[in-house]
Amino acid sequence: MINKGSLIVISGFSGVGKGTVVKRLVADYGYDLSVSATTRPPRDGEVHGREYFFMDRGEFENLIDYGGFIEWTQYVENYYGTPKKYVEESLGRGKNIILEIEVMGAMKIKEQYPEALLIFIAAPSIKSLRERLAGRGTENDAAIRKRLKKATEEAADMEQYDYVVINDDLEECIATVHAIIQSYACRKANNMDFIQSIKNELKETL
Ligand code: 5GP
Repeated sequence: MINKGSLIVISGFSGVGKGTVVKRLVADYGYDLSVSATTRPPRDGEVHGREYFFMDRGEFENLIDYGGFIEWTQYVENYYGTPKKYVEESLGRGKNIILEIEVMGAMKIKEQYPEALLIFIAAPSIKSLRERLAGRGTENDAAIRKRLKKATEEAADMEQYDYVVINDDLEECIATVHAIIQSYACRKANNMDFIQSIKNELKETL
């Protein structure tokens, strides 16, 4: 019997370190990770097919028309989208799959997959977030302002998430998110097939 996999959406303010949290969850605990497509140019060290599928606007729009995305959105002037195929294959194999996407996309996922688990990673304060964004050195002042403006919009939707985890200490944040996912998998609603199979087995045994 294949246990149902969970679809886990992780969002958080830009610069909060959610990318690191997600990478570690995948490396340490073997979660599947959905690789998104984007029209934003790669940052230093980013590899096509690993961080993102980098494409131009034409390619992205073709994929929209073809119905290749579960959800897509425009974020700070670029397109971002979740390819459908891998997510559905992964869930079909009973795996837990993580989508690291922004708030609008998360809401679209919740509509299509009401059982999805939504986790928001927050910074302890906006001051610390600003420092992190500046320290990353990949964006100028104007871009940082844009990202903080976006964070203001995202903060309005934080309460739509099932859990909010503060990334103050990285190890603690990773352990907390993992624990949330583990306990989510044990919900009664996620184990109805198992409950039935145990009852059947008892019947056959006695
Ligand atoms: P970044 O440019 O910093 O890599 O990502 C910008 C934002 O886009 C982040 O909040 C990230 O979570 C989000 N994002 C990445 N991939 C997707 C996607 O496939 N769909 C949506 N809706 N957002 C995404």
